[in-house]
Amino acid sequence: MRIENLNELDLNRLTRKSYGDDETLEQRVAEIIKLVQKDGEEAIYKLTEEFDHVNLRQSGLQVTAEEIQEAYNNVSENYLRALRTAKANILSYHEKQKRTSWLEPNLDGSVLGQLLLPLKRVGIYVPGGTASYPSSVLMNALPAVVAGVEEIVMVSPPRTDGTLLPEVLVAAAEAGVTEVYKVGGAQGIAALAYGTETIFPVDKITGPGNIYVTLAKKQVFGTVDIDMLAGPSEILILVDETGRPEELAADLLSQAEHDRLASAILVSSNQEILEKTIAAVERQLEDLPRAEIARASWETYGAAVLVSSLQEGMDLANKIAPEHFELVVEEPFSWLGQVRNVGAVFLGRYSPEPVGDYFAGPNHVLPTGGSARFYSPLNVDMFMKKVSVIGYSETALKRDAQQIALLARSEGLEAHARAVEARFKD
Ligand code: NAD
Repeated sequence: MRIENLNELDLNRLTRKSYGDDETLEQRVAEIIKLVQKDGEEAIYKLTEEFDHVNLRQSGLQVTAEEIQEAYNNVSENYLRALRTAKANILSYHEKQKRTSWLEPNLDGSVLGQLLLPLKRVGIYVPGGTASYPSSVLMNALPAVVAGVEEIVMVSPPRTDGTLLPEVLVAAAEAGVTEVYKVGGAQGIAALAYGTETIFPVDKITGPGNIYVTLAKKQVFGTVDIDMLAGPSEILILVDETGRPEELAADLLSQAEHDRLASAILVSSNQEILEKTIAAVERQLEDLPRAEIARASWETYGAAVLVSSLQEGMDLANKIAPEHFELVVEEPFSWLGQVRNVGAVFLGRYSPEPVGDYFAGPNHVLPTGGSARFYSPLNVDMFMKKVSVIGYSETALKRDAQQIALLARSEGLEAHARAVEARFKD
């Protein structure tokens, strides 16, 4: 890894990277979705055999209560305790996000307001290809629970023995998921969006996944809502001379190990910290179990950037708009006012990214690929919808009738004008 300065930096390599402009894959995903729409579960069984190498025709797609019970027998008490603490933290954080309906009576007797209603049925995708993610179960399901969603349907690809990881099933039960199906990839998304013989369609699909999942979410959007198009993970660390290379290297690798396409970027005005951290990354890669993935990510999409000041580093962070942004500087809170385009900001040495991934409470489903410019982390609002309330009184309508009719006629909509005037004919 070579240290780059701002002039040499190829921002295109580090930004706006997303899963999803590959036409051949788009076509392939469209075919999978059509197949599920046409042949329902028979298509799912075929695709699951092809991609996940397991035949589920005998056992069916839905996880049974016995399988959940069995999963509880296969996880440790320590795991359950940590999971339940994480759940409590995530619930408590997301409860603060919940907004309520409001009705505002006016002196003219009219009432205006807004109902905030939970979606009825949502689908959550939990990845299961190269790794399993019980934490994603909590992060997707718990905001829906706080919103008041009645039916939370989880899909996840089965392992070759036809099961889901016990930790994932236990997380689903603990989080209040109401149905679990063993189906992944684009076929899982199609099943949620269009339904099958046994899976009833949902209103919205959330959750991260690989390129097939992401492209499928893009294609079913409109039939259902989706949370966002999540791409490969990213971290950008802005560090001053107080940073410790071994810790910084560990944080960079915590994202690089996710995916070959993940990106880990270190930014500093201190050349020595950059040099020492690059060396520490090399050392730590030597015994990292997912070293092959992490190295590919670090070498292709990683960067060590020398800036002239922390301010220049901050501006660069807002330009790149990373999913995770660590501020490892002496007074991190003093920079908070300048944070604009990031998914989540981690302040100071004792807030390494995994604290947010698993435990602290904020959601780990975050905007990637530069979309932190306009997307927010997954949150309770995303599982709710709004209904406008208009309750005009006679006094209010009498007062406003003429102006409403005038505006309607200016648009050539005579029936609109008459609908208002009809109230005051006699
Ligand atoms: P996955 O569950 O997303 O995908 C596995 C499925 O992909 C398979 O079941 C199969 O149906 C489909 N598939 C595989 N090869 C295919 C092919 N050739 N044609 C059609 N379909 C095919 O699991 P994954 O692959 O491990 O990917 C998980 C992704 O989710 C990673 O990129 C990871 O970084 C990301 N992730 C993100 C977050 C987050 O919060 N942003 C959290 C966890 C995971």
